[in-house]
Amino acid sequence: MLSSILAKSDCAACKFCCSFRRTSLWETPVFPEADLPKFQALKPDAKFRPAGKSGKSFTFDLRNAYHTDDPSEEAACPFLDPSRGCTLPQDLKPFECKIWPLRAVRQKDNSIAVALTPTCPAINKVPLDRVRELAASGLGQQILDYATEHPDIIKEASDFLSNIIYPLK
Ligand code: SF4
Ligand code: SF4
Repeated sequence: MLSSILAKSDCAACKFCCSFRRTSLWETPVFPEADLPKFQALKPDAKFRPAGKSGKSFTFDLRNAYHTDDPSEEAACPFLDPSRGCTLPQDLKPFECKIWPLRAVRQKDNSIAVALTPTCPAINKVPLDRVRELAASGLGQQILDYATEHPDIIKEASDFLSNIIYPLK
């Protein structure tokens, strides 16, 4: 969904958003319960846990995937192949993965907005106006519509998610 501004080659060399430190486990992608059996069939040894408030969403459970006490250790998503990248078919890839590094965020006034995370090295080289234009061309509304239907993907407002790119006031 961001292919017009994110080069596949950049992602192939990076894969940052498919591995998680302990402090980043809140960022593992949330997906609808209906997809859980498909994930389990693809990867029977992968662990999953409920996510969000509805009781109808899940995420990958990486809490026991660490081998050291080093806080900088990263645990990879069970569907990440180190050489090929994400192994999931496009129709099964969690929506949150498709829109990364954009996130749906709950604002202080309870509205939902789209924030740009600061940690994607490739998108940080793209002029912010281009990212905003892409959001304004339909992607931003698509994210808000999905988040309204699947509120478990919505993150709480924070300094980390303070760069709101849609809607712009
Ligand atoms: S962090 Fe950015 S550049 Fe790296 S893999 Fe994810 S989307 Fe691609
Ligand atoms: S599902 Fe695919 S894109 Fe999403 S975190 Fe896992 S490997 Fe990365």
